[in-house]
Amino acid sequence: MVRLIDVSKAYDNGTRALESVSLRIEDGGFVFLVGPSGSGKSTIVKLLTGEIRPTSGRIMVNGYNLNTIRDGQIPFMRRTLGVIFQDFRLIEKKTVCENLTFAMRAVGTSPKEIRKRVGYVLELVGLDCKLSCRPCELSGGEQQRVAIARALVNNPSMIIADEPTGNLDPTRSFEIMLLLERINALGTTVLVVTHEKELVNRFTKRVVAIDGGRVVSDGMDGYYQNEK
Ligand code: ADP
Ligand code: ADP
Repeated sequence: MVRLIDVSKAYDNGTRALESVSLRIEDGGFVFLVGPSGSGKSTIVKLLTGEIRPTSGRIMVNGYNLNTIRDGQIPFMRRTLGVIFQDFRLIEKKTVCENLTFAMRAVGTSPKEIRKRVGYVLELVGLDCKLSCRPCELSGGEQQRVAIARALVNNPSMIIADEPTGNLDPTRSFEIMLLLERINALGTTVLVVTHEKELVNRFTKRVVAIDGGRVVSDGMDGYYQNEK
């Protein structure tokens, strides 16, 4: 479970990025976090991954209290999260299979377990036939599916997707969202950060809207329920 309780964040230059944000995401939930550019979406993601610390307020991520967590515990907290970015961030010189095994070796998984898990997640994202391809040989949508597979290999409790469809056409974008929906149905909590209104409104999911660093709506009514 993720909880932000009365969280504010001011950056060193004085910019107040978040003002008193409270948010609770239950295990197994699917949440779209939406809002215009500069509204504070990335700040929330960076707080959840422990990249930055709040100025005030409390943050809990999958059983870790980020206010009191020791630096040595941060890698363990991060293993409960799988993060996906707009620009995929795959290792270009490695094949699909190597990108995934690399992520698993980094946490000390046995070769036998790695083979089993890599096969499973690649089948889940529909890319078991692309095992030996390098990222440059794949389309944008396929690269994002590899990134999703990589985020899943270490079996995180939660996937955080930060503008995952920013580089994809509408059809590919919809496919990526359907895949995230399927992953959620298999039990992983999913947080999708996006400003793509049409895409969000094709799903019936909880939408948390932020603007000017504040939560301005939260519910099942789609993007900006209060918009005229
Ligand atoms: P799930 O996605 O598994 O249904 P959620 O935690 O996303 O679980 O939400 C369950 C229901 O409660 C949804 O209808 C959601 O809109 C609502 N809900 C959850 N948290 C809040 C909140 N902080 N404010 C408003 N509605 C919420
Ligand atoms: P979004 O992801 O919704 O575009 P951000 O969380 O990146 O919004 O930014 C929220 C506000 O904080 C913006 O005004 C932005 O300019 C500011 N901001 C973001 N990162 C920094 C930083 N490292 N230093 C100072 N201001 C920042």
